Amino acid sequence: MPNVEAGAVAYLGLGGNIGDPVAHMAEALNRVDDRADCRVIAVSRLYRTPPWGKTDQDWFFNSAAEIRTTLDPLSLLRLCLEIERSMKRVRIERWGPRTIDLDLLAYGDLRMASDELTVPHPRMTERAFVLLPLADLTPDLVIAERSISAWLADVDAAGIEVADADRGWWRRV
Ligand code: ATP
Ligand code: CA
Ligand code: CA
Repeated sequence: MPNVEAGAVAYLGLGGNIGDPVAHMAEALNRVDDRADCRVIAVSRLYRTPPWGKTDQDWFFNSAAEIRTTLDPLSLLRLCLEIERSMKRVRIERWGPRTIDLDLLAYGDLRMASDELTVPHPRMTERAFVLLPLADLTPDLVIAERSISAWLADVDAAGIEVADADRGWWRRV
C-alpha cells in the first residue's frame, strides 16, 4: 500500500465545454481520489470561463485540484491522459472543444521539459482560467519566480464567473 502522505504535492488544472463538463471534472477527481497512490487534498471553487485561444466555441467550466501522490510525474501525466481518453475525449484541434482537459500544472518544485511533459505547465501563467482556481488553493505558490497571485494581477480575467463557491462540488453524493 503506497504511503500517499509521503508523496509529492501536485496541482491539476481541469476544464471542459462539451456535454456535462462539471460531471466529467467531478468524475475525473473521484477517479484520482479513489486510487491508493493518489489523494485529492483540496479542490477549488468551480468557474465558468469564456473560451480562450479558439473563441468560436462554448464557454468552459474550469477548476483546479491539489493532490498528494506517490506517482512519478510521467505516471501522473499518463493517468491524466488515460482519464481523458476514458471520457471519450477526441483530439480534433488544439485548444478546441473537449469533454475534459486534465493538465499537470505543477509537481512539487520540479522543473522539467520533454516532448511528453513540461512542468510547470508552460502556458499557465498567462491564463486567468488556470490562475483563478489555482489561487483558491495556493496563491503563494511560486512559478517562474512569481507567485500565483502576482501572475493573476497581470492577466485579463474579464467574463470569468464563480459557478459554484462550494468546494465540495466534485464529491459524489
Ligand atoms: P495546452 O497544453 O496549451 O493547455 P491542451 O491542454 O489542449 O493545450 P492537449 O491536447 O490536452 O493540449 O495536450 C497535448 C499534449 O501535451 C499531451 O499529450 C501531453 O503529452 C503534453 N503535455 C506536456 N506537458 C503537459 C502538462 N504539464 N500537462 C498536460 N499535458 C502536457
Ligand atoms: Ca490545457
Ligand atoms: Ca491538456
